[in-house]
Amino acid sequence: MSHATIETIVNLCKRRGIVFPSSEIYGGLRSAWDWGPLGIELKRNVKNAWWHRMVHQRDDVVGLESSILMSPKVWEASGHVATFTDPLVECTNCHHRFRADHIDLSRNCPDCGQGPSWTEPRQFNLMFKTHMGPVEDSSHAVYLRPETAQGMFVDFQTVQSTSRKKIPFGIAQQGKSFRNEITPGNFVFRTREFEQMEMEFFVKPGTDDKWLDYWLKERVDWFTDLGMTPDNIRLREHESDELSHYAKRTYDIEYQFPGMGWSELEGIANRTDFDLKAHAEHSKQDLSYFDSETEERYVPYVIEPALGVERATLAFLIDAYREEEAPTASGKVEKRTVLRLHHKLAPSKVAVLPLSKNADLTPLAEKLAAEIRSKFVTDYDVAGSIGRRYRRQDEVGTPFCVTVDFDSLEDNQVTVRDRDSMEQERISIGELLAYLEKRLNL
Ligand code: ATP
Repeated sequence: MSHATIETIVNLCKRRGIVFPSSEIYGGLRSAWDWGPLGIELKRNVKNAWWHRMVHQRDDVVGLESSILMSPKVWEASGHVATFTDPLVECTNCHHRFRADHIDLSRNCPDCGQGPSWTEPRQFNLMFKTHMGPVEDSSHAVYLRPETAQGMFVDFQTVQSTSRKKIPFGIAQQGKSFRNEITPGNFVFRTREFEQMEMEFFVKPGTDDKWLDYWLKERVDWFTDLGMTPDNIRLREHESDELSHYAKRTYDIEYQFPGMGWSELEGIANRTDFDLKAHAEHSKQDLSYFDSETEERYVPYVIEPALGVERATLAFLIDAYREEEAPTASGKVEKRTVLRLHHKLAPSKVAVLPLSKNADLTPLAEKLAAEIRSKFVTDYDVAGSIGRRYRRQDEVGTPFCVTVDFDSLEDNQVTVRDRDSMEQERISIGELLAYLEKRLNL
């Protein structure tokens, strides 16, 4: 069981340079975060695991990178200009603003404790607006995309015809999205700039229910195959009053976040033919599909799994976090913090640790580190006692530590320590790479 609170994760991330506030030397920028050396490896591993499963391992999904700035007409057609809004209320006492659906309006203001005295809810559009080129007038306004999905819809025909994919098939994309959230917070759970991993799966109308069920299972399996505790994740169907303007049936994959309870990790929606029809109407282009086998023409329905990279990475961090008792060399019991991350997600796969700074050990340790690094992301650490160095690697989830000691110079063997069991094995240097390759579950 994880022992994490959001605070312990924030502290670990800050202490080890995984994630920390952006623009910190200027006091930071609310809800903006920077991912340091270990954080970017972790985040990239989450993205790669998704891409591998969703694109590389499938014959029926292709990738896309569409631009963040798109024609403003896209957002008119998609309904975002009119309806991508959250209800905003303001406390008449302290003037703090909240999302009306995130607080209990019958109670005092969570900020100043006064009231309740709220302004009437008004719809606040979440899209960031900017101007293209040097003229700042409304005819030059563009939006930062609030979702990557529209790129897949407006490029549907080009991608379909050039990749020669037949329906059912999907288009996947990873990239930045921007939402001017009224109340960002809970670390990287809700930010105004974030990355999404979305896939639009185009299907024949009438087969959409079947495909939604398929993707619900596939997406839950992705999380549990990467080690997420099944009891911490569940599917919840949206009530009819929760459904987005484009959706027929939607599920959230929820994770039990500490301190927040069950909260959305990923949304899986049946977007019907809403988007393709809307773009066909607004662009006056034919976005229908001709099925050459049945000689039918139709506008495909779309099943969309949509996941936030940072939110997923936070859930993996929380799920992997453990505080355990560990015996030290002297027989005492110490607390150790360990990230039991799936090997695929661990920022470094191996750490090479010469037992001491003694110059006799350095050439062999450096040579081994270089050899292992040619295959796996490898850390090299000489500073501090060996026990402390093991703890430092445990804390960031490195699956294996390789220790070079004085015996290694004589017997050509090193000690390999397993992060999870803390068991140590002597392995001959000639077999080390093959051993690591076998033990690492990549
Ligand atoms: P919420 O109800 O939490 O505002 P949403 O239903 O609007 O989310 P979607 O539009 O379904 O979210 O976006 C798909 C995924 O993108 C979400 O499940 C989440 O993982 C991620 N996401 C959405 N908004 C944010 C945000 N502000 N910060 C970080 N990740 C986000």
